[in-house]
Amino acid sequence: MAAEAAKAPAAAAPAAAAPVVEKQTNCLGCNKPLKKIRRYYRNGKFYCTKRCWYKAQDASKEAKEEKK
Ligand SMILES: [Zn+2]
Repeated sequence: MAAEAAKAPAAAAPAAAAPVVEKQTNCLGCNKPLKKIRRYYRNGKFYCTKRCWYKAQDASKEAKEEKK
């Protein structure tokens, strides 16, 4: 087992150390994948439709109210 581990580190380390910088690919309202054609940009975030933006807004409002 130890011999196998010694061979592998070069292959295993980069994947673990790689920075995970994901672009926003899903709508924050309905969590569906965003497509280039249909997306609604608001306040630095992307949604697929205006309706989803409203939906996400309501969700964030409720979350804030729950914290109080
Ligand atoms: Zn959506």
